[in-house]
Amino acid sequence: MHLKDSALLRTHAYIDGAWSEAADGARFDVTNPADGSVLASVPDMGRAETRRAIEAAAAALPAWQARTAKERAAVLRKWFELILAHQEDFAVLMSAEQGKPLAEARGEVAYGASFIEWFAEEGKRIYGDVIPAHGADKRIVVLKQPIGVVAAITPWNFPVAMITRKAGPALAAGCTMVLKPAEDTPLCALALAELGARAGLPQGVLNIVTTMQAAEVGGELTANPLVRKLSFTGSTGVGKLLMRQSADTVKKVSLELGGNAPFIVFDDADLDAAVAGAMASKYRNAGQTCVCANRLLVQDGIYDAFAAKLAEAVSKLKVGPGLSGDTQLGPLINEDAVAKVETLLADALDKGAKLVCGGKRHAQGPNFFEPTIVTGVTPAMRVAREEIFGPVAPLFRFHTEEDAIRMANDTEFGLAAYFYARDIARVWRVAERLEYGIVGINEGIISTEVAPFGGIKESGIGREGSRYGIDDFVEIKYLCLGGI
Ligand code: ADP
Repeated sequence: MHLKDSALLRTHAYIDGAWSEAADGARFDVTNPADGSVLASVPDMGRAETRRAIEAAAAALPAWQARTAKERAAVLRKWFELILAHQEDFAVLMSAEQGKPLAEARGEVAYGASFIEWFAEEGKRIYGDVIPAHGADKRIVVLKQPIGVVAAITPWNFPVAMITRKAGPALAAGCTMVLKPAEDTPLCALALAELGARAGLPQGVLNIVTTMQAAEVGGELTANPLVRKLSFTGSTGVGKLLMRQSADTVKKVSLELGGNAPFIVFDDADLDAAVAGAMASKYRNAGQTCVCANRLLVQDGIYDAFAAKLAEAVSKLKVGPGLSGDTQLGPLINEDAVAKVETLLADALDKGAKLVCGGKRHAQGPNFFEPTIVTGVTPAMRVAREEIFGPVAPLFRFHTEEDAIRMANDTEFGLAAYFYARDIARVWRVAERLEYGIVGINEGIISTEVAPFGGIKESGIGREGSRYGIDDFVEIKYLCLGGI
């Protein structure tokens, strides 16, 4: 791994404006999932260091929130520009520690940076209200103020964007932050902190605690009363645990959890567009996104044609290490992820699904899995209920629009759904009845900083991005002026 700016490879945590070691000097290795090679080691911190980071964030809060929104925006704008100026280095770092192809990594850096730009602008528009009062001698004013110290816990699948989606609005609103990045991908987080410091983020405004002891650090972040808000992206199980832990101090929580995205193709769909959408939605990041199509529901009339065209497109995918220039499908994050994909696929095949292509580990190495398609999948199979998080596309068959909607909604999750159809009345009907926070209609890629991203049901609470994304980081205060 070669970086043009070698100072972006930071191997210390970042607390109170200083690059820091764990109190006991403990460290853990960060590896490349494509070949298992060790890229660097970072501090393995615990409760005491987390407390110190929280206290630093609390100490930095008054001065940061006292700045004007425009002053904060200027620092964030600089940060955004620096991230883009180092896009290539970030892409290399990301591809090395996370595994995604370089082209996708470059895309994520731009996407991740866009949240900083967007919220630098939005921060200037956190308007309050003047409400016509309930008495002639009174006046009512509504203020929006930063919620305070924010704890953020992020996953490994988008090592930059999942951080900037939280840090952008939090810092723009005048909050300060303690971030615990995923143990698999701390290097991108530390590089962000390095550029944040260069952009002029004051000491203590953004703190990064690296750790393998997620439960310890998460325990402190949720128990500490100085933390007023928790923003988490990750699995539903951990999200529920953190929500429970946050109850004792009644923290505001935002959760972006698992999904079980249906991808519905109706008989009247544009078949080529549907295949292109399915490829993007299913195989991006090797299937490791929470909005990846998890169940492809295809109507009788075009089921066989869709399966054949999808198989043809899949056969052209170039599998390899993310850092090789022409790779389209990289490794999974680790062995456990590969084992889970294998188990889910074996369950489907045992229960009668048919393999169209792929189906086993890829010759590239132990963390690689062949892009796979299975047909004849039914609701009795585990893939109908569980998030695959790998490059396996299970094709379910349905008969009527009613069947498709029932199958699509038959899950406790509600993050993203997709459907392809051309009949305009059907488009409206289906869009309104899908119980999901995000619906892609004739579109397989739905992520953008300008739109609200988030789920319903057990997929989460709150929205990230768009003008709604800043709401989670402010409190509403109502002033009642009497005696006028
Ligand atoms: P994934 O399947 O994406 O690894 P996780 O929910 O396990 O999902 O991980 C998302 C983030 O949550 C990571 O930063 C991970 O370290 C963190 N995490 C995992 N377990 C806990 C926990 N008990 N407390 C706090 N954070 C946790």
